[in-house]
Amino acid sequence: LTAVQLTKDTLDNIKKTDDKIQAFVRLHEETALAEAAAADEKGDFSNVLAGIPMAMKDNIATKGLETTAASKILADFKPVYDATVTKKLKDDGAVIIGKANMDEFAMGGSSETSAYKQTKNAWDQDKVPGGSSGGSAAAVAAGQVAYALGSDTGGSIRQPAAFNGIAGMKPTYGRVSRFGLFAMASSLDQIGPLTRTVRDNALVLNAISGFDQNDSTSSERAVPDFTEKLGESIKGMKIAVPKEYFQEGLSNEVALQVRAAIEQMKTMGAEVTEVSLPHTHFGVAAYYILMSSEGSSNLQRYDGIRYGHRAKDAKELEEVYKKTRSEGFGNEVKRRIMLGTYSLSAGAYDAFFKKAAQIRTLIIQDFNKVFEDYDLIVGPTTPTQPYGMGEELGDPKTMYLGDALTIPVNLAGLPAMSVNAGFNAGLPIGLQIIGRPFDEQSIYQLAYAFE
Ligand code: GLN
Repeated sequence: LTAVQLTKDTLDNIKKTDDKIQAFVRLHEETALAEAAAADEKGDFSNVLAGIPMAMKDNIATKGLETTAASKILADFKPVYDATVTKKLKDDGAVIIGKANMDEFAMGGSSETSAYKQTKNAWDQDKVPGGSSGGSAAAVAAGQVAYALGSDTGGSIRQPAAFNGIAGMKPTYGRVSRFGLFAMASSLDQIGPLTRTVRDNALVLNAISGFDQNDSTSSERAVPDFTEKLGESIKGMKIAVPKEYFQEGLSNEVALQVRAAIEQMKTMGAEVTEVSLPHTHFGVAAYYILMSSEGSSNLQRYDGIRYGHRAKDAKELEEVYKKTRSEGFGNEVKRRIMLGTYSLSAGAYDAFFKKAAQIRTLIIQDFNKVFEDYDLIVGPTTPTQPYGMGEELGDPKTMYLGDALTIPVNLAGLPAMSVNAGFNAGLPIGLQIIGRPFDEQSIYQLAYAFE
């Protein structure tokens, strides 16, 4: 099998299945076939990613190829550079088959805020795929590609992974360069892999990790081989289960499957103990203030002058800004820009932004304390299973509460992964494994033993 043949087969299959799933905003057929041909020409397949087609979330820059963050304001926008992760994958011979759909600017949990299309859950097309990396997750779960990249600011890799029954890793803040990721909230954003197996996940993380001088928050720490501990026994591993992760809003089905998974870990010799992360409950409120504040500031650059869409009939500068932004941004993005600019305004700063930042510190301290005695923390990824299309779109608060179990991890910059814990009524349930900073290896070890 040549890379070109594999790429052709992949494109054919996507064309057949994507009417149903709608995972891709666009395919990059020509460049994908050229990348595959280059891999064949080189003939060196010692790198596991060489010649393998993948899906890129639509907020990760690909040079010369439309990258729109699923927003109208970036319609037709072609970056003049590659994101660092894009460059790394290209250097490894990867084939970028297309852009995966997502919530507009990664703001959302169902991929329904996309300005372009509605991705469906791979297991049941009446249900949402989760979000914001819903296209990435559905494409992998539906067998369209072996892996995809997503981004996770408050759960956007782990939640859609859980909703589609696959593996999704949000690495430690700083592990993967954010250069070329369209910024949502810079102190929370991380890029990570979505895959069907834990081993594949570790292999992709190997490829995209490492220091980058273009991202001042990327870490200089050495990158280990993330497959190294796969297959090692989890006997004696100290696992903490936070009681707050099993409280209000958690569905019985999710609780049952996750408890069963934890029992299985005990059978394999892990030492499991209940612990408390007392400030968990404040995470959602703090996150939506901090995220919106950083987000409103990051989105100032979309002014109609520098990138993408510009309103046609505006006569002077301020009108260009106003019209362009009114036309270009969707409702969820506008809601957050308003919330963010308000939280940062002189009169509201102390009561909102500052308080939220203080809560963030308390949440970090909660985790630090538990990690003094335990190797890993496990619990559910999401409080519920995938819900129906359209069911929560008009009700942002309910949607925001769905992030309660993933958000604290971003506030603390920790690595965490969602793996499938089983199914109920034909729909998947995710188990979340949270690790110490830069200890993705132990997460993979447990996930692999459990898989
Ligand atoms: N669902 C969360 C939000 O809407 C998380 C998004 C993300 O991680 N990008 O903000």
